[in-house]
Amino acid sequence: MTRRRQVYEGKAKILYEGPEPGTLIQYFKDDATAFNAQKKGTINGKGVLNNRISEHIFTLLGAIGMPHHFIRRLNMREQLIRQVEIVPIEVVVRNVAAGSLSKRLGIEEGTPLPRTIVEYYYKDDALGDPMVSDEHIAAFGWAGQEELHEMADMAIRVNDFMSGLFAGIGIRLVDFKLEFGRLYENDFSRIILADEISPDGARLWDMTTNEKLDKDRFRRDLGGEVEAYQEVARRLGLLPEGGDPVVVDLESRRGKGK
Ligand code: UDP
Repeated sequence: MTRRRQVYEGKAKILYEGPEPGTLIQYFKDDATAFNAQKKGTINGKGVLNNRISEHIFTLLGAIGMPHHFIRRLNMREQLIRQVEIVPIEVVVRNVAAGSLSKRLGIEEGTPLPRTIVEYYYKDDALGDPMVSDEHIAAFGWAGQEELHEMADMAIRVNDFMSGLFAGIGIRLVDFKLEFGRLYENDFSRIILADEISPDGARLWDMTTNEKLDKDRFRRDLGGEVEAYQEVARRLGLLPEGGDPVVVDLESRRGKGK
């Protein structure tokens, strides 16, 4: 077996060269970081769950016409994706006050926001991903005006869709982060959804108990991280009741006759 070439290693994922030009393999690690990587740890099985949850959400978003980088899941920890040029802006969408917004503006966590808020953060670990405005993005050329509009419109659409999806399974979508990429086709490029959508980059609260079912369990030392991620997967119908993702993966392979 030949060793694949690693293209990039991030905090929670590794990118390898894909089988065809223009594709990559996205590998989901169990590593978890918080507070700009000042806090590090491992959540056993997180990668398997995020691979599965992200596959599910991207597939549903594709079905409503949202362009994205996901092609197919390859195995428990890997998915085949389209190679894009990542736009160096993290787009955060908020429905309910939490995290940095609560801290910065002194609004109690859990307060519903009067309207959905979209924020931009410049992707730069050394700077701690500072929040920026559309003025900064335009002035420094991190994204074009049209690209930024596209990203904001897509983020709102993702929010509308996911708020409904999660509400249907008793989960409040408090906030989440999206990343976008440029897909080059001849002389043109278009913006598509990239990265992952999982409890690593979203705040998901149980609607009745307000229990946190996301990475805040790790950030705030609440414990029960895997159980929380599993609960999200289970409610999305990705695990049998009380099931183990490893078993599910074996079953899905068997189902495909592999
Ligand atoms: N988020 C993320 N990556 C980041 C920063 C934030 O995925 O580098 C997500 C985070 O999980 C939350 C939302 O974006 O769902 C808003 O995060 P916030 O600005 O409140 O920052 P935090 O409190 O996580 O530092």
